[in-house]
Amino acid sequence: LKEHYAQLSKLPTVTKDGIEVDLMANISTHLDVEAAMKYGAKGVGLFRSEFLFMGRDTIPDEETQFKAYKEAIEKCNGNLCVIRTMDIGGDKPLPYLNIPEEENPFLGYRAIRICLNRREVFMPQVKAILRAGVYGKAAMMLPMVINVEEVKQVREIIEQAKAELAAQEKPFSDNVQLGIMVETPAAAVMTPVLAKYLDFFSIGTNDLVQYTLAVDRVNANVSYLYNHFNPAVLRLIKLTIDSARKNNIWVGMCGEMASDPNAAAILMAMGINELSMSAPSIPRVKEKIRSITSAQAKAALDTVMTMEDGNAIKEYLQTAL
Ligand code: PEP
Ligand code: MG
Repeated sequence: LKEHYAQLSKLPTVTKDGIEVDLMANISTHLDVEAAMKYGAKGVGLFRSEFLFMGRDTIPDEETQFKAYKEAIEKCNGNLCVIRTMDIGGDKPLPYLNIPEEENPFLGYRAIRICLNRREVFMPQVKAILRAGVYGKAAMMLPMVINVEEVKQVREIIEQAKAELAAQEKPFSDNVQLGIMVETPAAAVMTPVLAKYLDFFSIGTNDLVQYTLAVDRVNANVSYLYNHFNPAVLRLIKLTIDSARKNNIWVGMCGEMASDPNAAAILMAMGINELSMSAPSIPRVKEKIRSITSAQAKAALDTVMTMEDGNAIKEYLQTAL
């Protein structure tokens, strides 16, 4: 099996009739990139940068962050490295930010909300990413976005960061892509508008399922309701992919759903460009995609979109593909 997977890692991710999708890796630190490449990852689709902020007493400074991002980008060997700006709050608290305890942390002060409110936290990260972008192909991705205004504010902060870096004579890249996680229902519904301000979308189903269905992603008592094939979720995903296609930007997925081979097939039929997952899941997804035709995937998708129940969809896909 090991030998089989080693060979598979060198083969392209294409359907039998030649439709291609990029399989990329979700990572927590720059040290994970090499292992991900061995599984056949074509770059990094989600670098969870908050791990750089955790397990310490102070905010990591610009230099510390720059070194970590630079290393991750270099190790991608010319493939894209998508760095998500810090996603703290919710289930990931940070004592040194002194955020008061909240009754609903998943609906509270977190991620992009902290970044836009505490510039001294966000600015070093933005600068570090722009500087690291000199060493390869990089993207900045914003978590928990709910509206266009947040994106506009980040664009202004990026301009300010560039002006300051230029004044300090520090080299930076002008080609760092800007995208968002589509992980709130508001963002998904607004993708036809958001697409005009961004270079890409990456669908974060872990949170998108939670917020769309009002089902806590870590509560075992309601886990029977947590299903990425729920038709409400599928419609938001399809809208997101359609919006990206209409506006000529790329769209991927970095939530757990991307590592479900049956889901991957219908996502391809919807027109997704990229799937990012924990690296050990890559061979299974690649195998599924290489075993089907785009016509089969399209037929399955057409049936799925007429179905009314998430559990029935899940069962149907197990036999249909
Ligand atoms: C997601 O929400 O789908 C996601 C990839 O982000 P995280 O799991 O880190 O919240
Ligand atoms: Mg998330």
